[in-house]
Amino acid sequence: MNDQSVYIKSKEEILEIAKKYNLPQDEVEEFLEPNRIVELKIPVEIDGNTVIFKGFRSQHSNKLGPYKGGLRFHQNVTKDEVMALSLWMSLKTAVVGVPLGGGKGGVSVDPKALNEKQLENLSREYARRVFDVIGFDKDVPAPDVNTNPKIIDWMVNEYIKIAKEKKLGFDENKLYASFTGKAKNGLAGRKEATGFGGVTVLKELAKKLKLDPTKTTVAVMGFGNVGYFFADLASKAGFKVVSVSDSKGGIIKKDEKGNFIPLDIPLVFECKNEKGSLNGCYCAGGVCDTHGGELITNEDLLALPVDILVPAALEDVINENNMQNVKAKIIIEMANGPVTPSAYHHLSDKGVTIVPDILANSGGVAGSFIEWEQNMENKTYKLKNVLERLEKMMQAAFEAVWQESVNQKTNLKEASYLVALNKILK
Ligand code: NAD
Repeated sequence: MNDQSVYIKSKEEILEIAKKYNLPQDEVEEFLEPNRIVELKIPVEIDGNTVIFKGFRSQHSNKLGPYKGGLRFHQNVTKDEVMALSLWMSLKTAVVGVPLGGGKGGVSVDPKALNEKQLENLSREYARRVFDVIGFDKDVPAPDVNTNPKIIDWMVNEYIKIAKEKKLGFDENKLYASFTGKAKNGLAGRKEATGFGGVTVLKELAKKLKLDPTKTTVAVMGFGNVGYFFADLASKAGFKVVSVSDSKGGIIKKDEKGNFIPLDIPLVFECKNEKGSLNGCYCAGGVCDTHGGELITNEDLLALPVDILVPAALEDVINENNMQNVKAKIIIEMANGPVTPSAYHHLSDKGVTIVPDILANSGGVAGSFIEWEQNMENKTYKLKNVLERLEKMMQAAFEAVWQESVNQKTNLKEASYLVALNKILK
């Protein structure tokens, strides 16, 4: 599957939905094209040589507010991937009901091949080169795959330095509102917001489907910001998280009868941080030992006989080649675009309930909106209040999509696209 197809497939999918529901085709087509795509060259000094990295910022739609979306550092970042991700952001902000548009950025780089100083230089150079097109009222970047609050803080610091040199005259708190996902002047709760939002959706879905969490097994692919918090909060909500994985593979633990034993997620996290890998982190009930533990591949994880599958790493992981192997009856798309359109059709037709990314992981942008608002108003919100507000936003978004799916007798993906398009095309 080539990268370009991600954006084109996504566009085609939305056009099909627009046609099916008689939405104005020309307006939908116009919306689908990004307003602007900025391509950047980012020179970084590496071992005495200047290496040029390719960077992007796709500003998809600002119809509902300033462009909003993460920045990804990954070797597979391409213009088309960034375009697709920015389109999904425009839909996501609409679904979760925040006054923001959609954008996305990235740099084609393997950040693991850089040392800390080189990573800082890359981040600062990206901020310098994108300076003119971003800002609290224009376009507000945030972290995404392989970027984190530390990287965002370098960027904000650089951004504020330039804004002061240029004597733009804005209050400092507003300059901080130009990025979200910050450590300094960030939001209490932003780091867990995406996982928290996903688990809120999971709990709402469990109520609709009358699932008993204590009898419901969950496997989570990806153990980064999104996957870790999802796994942790889902197990705290009583679900049995029986497998987690990172890029190197996953783990499961079984008893003598071959039944899954739920993992102790905080201990697994601690163990992974110590060892640098999930290998051997077979932790359950307060202890880690190898008894009943098994290393599995990410493909094995997708085929586990669990109730709920949560892809929380990268896109296209459930596709034409492996969709037949999926045994779960529910998929929560915590990553962006983890189920390809044809796999989505195939699995939906088989009766699998798939909560689409633009709803499931919209807690991230909802948290970002709260952070942006907090900076704009020069306030500091309390964690408890942030999480309460986030929970209400996610419950309302879930209910709207669920009702749309009931009214239109369709799956949750079509329903969420309809909810979003109806707000955007208004
Ligand atoms: P992250 O960099 O913190 O973590 C990514 C995780 O995926 C890591 O555990 C990594 O080891 C794992 N991984 C990488 N390649 C893999 C592979 N081939 N197979 C299995 N695992 C692999 O990133 P994140 O912020 O957690 O983002 C994960 C996904 O969620 C992305 O699709 C991102 O766009 C989406 N997302 C993130 C946020 C957010 O707030 N961070 C919000 C909405 C959506």
